[in-house]
Amino acid sequence: MPAYTAPVKDMQFLLQDVLNVTATGVPGYEDLDAGFTAAVLEEAGKVASDVLAPLNAVGDRIGCVLENGVVRTPDGFKAAFAAMKKGGWTALDCDPDYGGQGLPYLMGTAVGEIFVSANMAFNMYQGLTHGAYSAIHAHGTEAQKAMYLPKMVSCDWTGTMNLTEPHCGTDLGLMRTKAEPQTDGSYLITGQKIFISAGDHDLAENIIHLVLAKAPGGGEGTKGVSLFIVPKFLVQEDGSLGARNAVSVGKIEDKMGIHGNATCVMNYDGAKGWLLGDLHKGMRAMFTMMNEARLGVGLQGYAVAEAAYQNAVAYAKDRLQGRAVTGVANPAGPADPLIVHPDIRRNLMEQKSFVEGARALTFWGAQLIDRSVRQGDAAAEGLISLLTPVIKGFQTDKGFEMAVQAQQIYGGHGYIEEQGMSQFARDARIAMIYEGANGVQALDLVGRKLAQDGGKHVMAFFEMVKAECKAHDGDARMAGFVEPLKQASKQLQAAGMFFMQNGMKNPNAALSGSYDFMHLMGHVCLGLMWTRMAKAAYLALDAGASDTGFYETKIATGRYYMARQLPACGMHLARIETGADTVMALAAEAF
Ligand SMILES: Cc1cc2nc3c(=O)[nH]c(=O)nc-3n(C[C@H](O)[C@H](O)[C@H](O)COP(=O)(O)OP(=O)(O)OC[C@H]3O[C@@H](n4cnc5c(N)ncnc54)[C@H](O)[C@@H]3O)c2cc1C
Repeated sequence: MPAYTAPVKDMQFLLQDVLNVTATGVPGYEDLDAGFTAAVLEEAGKVASDVLAPLNAVGDRIGCVLENGVVRTPDGFKAAFAAMKKGGWTALDCDPDYGGQGLPYLMGTAVGEIFVSANMAFNMYQGLTHGAYSAIHAHGTEAQKAMYLPKMVSCDWTGTMNLTEPHCGTDLGLMRTKAEPQTDGSYLITGQKIFISAGDHDLAENIIHLVLAKAPGGGEGTKGVSLFIVPKFLVQEDGSLGARNAVSVGKIEDKMGIHGNATCVMNYDGAKGWLLGDLHKGMRAMFTMMNEARLGVGLQGYAVAEAAYQNAVAYAKDRLQGRAVTGVANPAGPADPLIVHPDIRRNLMEQKSFVEGARALTFWGAQLIDRSVRQGDAAAEGLISLLTPVIKGFQTDKGFEMAVQAQQIYGGHGYIEEQGMSQFARDARIAMIYEGANGVQALDLVGRKLAQDGGKHVMAFFEMVKAECKAHDGDARMAGFVEPLKQASKQLQAAGMFFMQNGMKNPNAALSGSYDFMHLMGHVCLGLMWTRMAKAAYLALDAGASDTGFYETKIATGRYYMARQLPACGMHLARIETGADTVMALAAEAF
């Protein structure tokens, strides 16, 4: 079965050498010295390796079952969930006013990666709760916060998000679930939601569903949608649990991966709900959850790839097949290990350079969120808003691709279930679909985010890349990073220019290239990250760091990404510049 070890050293490098957290001035970061962050990450790593990773295959094999209207999670999940609660892992970056530990979102992100790598399906129970916590924290009344948040921070109660209906996922304006106002200020919610992650289970005393529904007077489309708090068990004035609400599980979906997480059809039959945030402004409130959730899903993309990669490396060092073309490497054995072969190396380098680059981008994104929330930094808020669809779409596409690459290292043994490699690929696949399918992320990026606030944020991004390149002018060691980054950034700007010149005349011309643009920008982002990581590694070496092998490996991995991945930017630009002509050439009947 696959094993997992938290990449604490890589994370420490990002936090301390690249992001230089204690020097940023972000409130709360002053406590994140190397000793403290290492202690937190190592402790999380132990829980992940000892408790969560061994349950990953169990969850996959057994899955969740619906018995007499109640969902049962796989063997061992209850005890593991109790261990997570007891260790305080559910409260890490939550508000101390409600029992949280108040650590920055960045630390929650780093620890989150460790738990997701170890067991993505299990971690979703807590992840969804965190999203619901954030929405209530941001939009709830004081009474709502006092009633729900302490129990959600501790995960005595978990949370869900309910958007999708059978006939609408992307186009939520088509929603049919209704909310009828009652004289006591509550609403009765009626309708069916499908594909609800962690919709029901036996891990918590209560489940707080956040449900989008249409209340009277809101008009057509998403404008008329409001968000409601609908508890599984009604909560009484004194905080104790009362009657069962009229919400039930129709069925658990039978699906490709994440079997340990119950994906439920939820039936609301006049369930009692309470408005969260403003009437008819539900999409706004839900977006608090969705932005956080999208970053969390982008994290899932590379976190699962990291776990798959670790196992692929072990297998490549162990499995003996063929001889190295440059001469026998293992004379004592009947053959050489797979890792001697250049094509296996290529495969491992693709995985390694992607995962480490994506981790850097995700940690930087988390830092932008901290800057925006803790310092009210509007530029940081604009930048993370621009980057969110890239982090979600690019990282989950690549994360899946890399999980498949790791499976490939195992040959046929990767395809059969025994080794556990197929689970990584099956689990990673969903991240490309939920929280807005990746095609819709690309649409959001090109159709909305590029032009947001007059294009201010994308211009700021270009300036940032330019400044990074300029900072290393004349540094010969950095040329292998700076030159490809400059070139890729020019290609990204050229793609943006193409959209500006052609998109107004023919919107199809822009949207036919949106997916390529998302990937082009993803590569530029990772190129920027590798440039920063390389610089930090050189600085550490110059300062006489003892672990020279670690820093030299970072630089070599970055060189691979710049040399072998950034050329994809030219291909994406070339595709974008063909516009819609070939994409839209056929009439629908011709398919
Ligand atoms: C395992 C799992 C867990 C989930 N968890 C949750 C959950 O907890 N809560 C919840 O509410 N939902 C959840 N979902 C639902 C998920 O978010 C939706 O499936 C997803 O948003 C896509 O919606 P859809 O399936 O209706 O596809 P559709 O909206 O029908 O889209 C189909 C395809 O068309 C594309 N498309 C749609 N519109 C456009 C457009 N205008 N331009 C270009 N392309 C377009 C999409 O990208 C997609 O590829 C989950 C789904 C699964 C499978």
